[in-house]
Amino acid sequence: MKSFDRRTFVKKSLTLSALSLGANKSRAEQQVRVLLPVMICSRGRKWGERVLQPAWQKWLTSQNMLDAVETGANVVEQDPDDNSVGYGGLPNEEGKVTLDASIMKGPGHRCGSVAALENIVHASSVARLVMERTDHIMLVGKDAYRFARAHGFKKENLLTEKSRIEWLRWKETLSERDDWLPADHDTSRNNERITGTINVLGIDDQGNVFGITTTSGLAYKIPGRVGDSPIIGAGLYLDNTVGAAGATGRGEEVIRTCGSFLIVEKMRDGMSPQQACEYALKRIAQVNTDIDFNVKYIAINKKGQIGCAQFKPIKGPICSAISSKGMQYINGKQVKI
Ligand code: ASP
Repeated sequence: MKSFDRRTFVKKSLTLSALSLGANKSRAEQQVRVLLPVMICSRGRKWGERVLQPAWQKWLTSQNMLDAVETGANVVEQDPDDNSVGYGGLPNEEGKVTLDASIMKGPGHRCGSVAALENIVHASSVARLVMERTDHIMLVGKDAYRFARAHGFKKENLLTEKSRIEWLRWKETLSERDDWLPADHDTSRNNERITGTINVLGIDDQGNVFGITTTSGLAYKIPGRVGDSPIIGAGLYLDNTVGAAGATGRGEEVIRTCGSFLIVEKMRDGMSPQQACEYALKRIAQVNTDIDFNVKYIAINKKGQIGCAQFKPIKGPICSAISSKGMQYINGKQVKI
């Protein structure tokens, strides 16, 4: 967030209190806090508004926070402008778009997820049905697809022309020792491994906690690869007595440190969401000597305190919130290693 936005946010936000970091007591840390009910998502201004405004509208009309977080996740899933979630997501190595998603509901500590799901736009809604209409937690691949079809989801092609062309450029410029050649006029390379994903977390007026993580996963992944997003405790975790956390970025690192679970448990032990997000990133740094990837965490506790942090430099808000006060944008903090 630019300093102007930051000032605006500080003015608009309901409470800002100074807390010291557990790891470094001498460093004062500002803690963003909002009134409940509230919803947050792991995106800045543009997508924050696109996702949270219809989601909040859903909350206002239904008073059902699970429906509201699902509405928010569905927005990105069906939008071809986003190439890291749902329709328009970048495909795997073989050009197939495969989706991962998870959902959690605080009351009853319920959860559901799908992994490597093809041809269905709303992976988070299928995850919700796994939670509500089965006695299981996770369905994968073709069987997740069959389950979705049994529940009436339409078969759709998720690969947009834009994503197909990007994938093809990646494939054609990957190596000079294979037989795939870029077009004569195309001198650019496409080495970038796009990261994305979205977390939508909400706490209702009764203090109940809900969350979704949904993604098309790491661009150009090996077929069969499943990331952190559908793994309960990695890409998403919540506890109805504590709060919620979600991850985006390099899923392997989040899985091997149980990122979202770690954050929620640290909040249970008394860390603020901001402290806990930074703590979980430092844990990744403990097992990696070279951080050449991004991981971003967002978290919220039952007091309405919000935290967000990532490895990559921060150029604008990395998290958005909506409450009765309207939209708020949160810069978060870069954890430098
Ligand atoms: N976390 C996702 C995964 O590893 C990807 C991302 O957020 O970019 O599948």
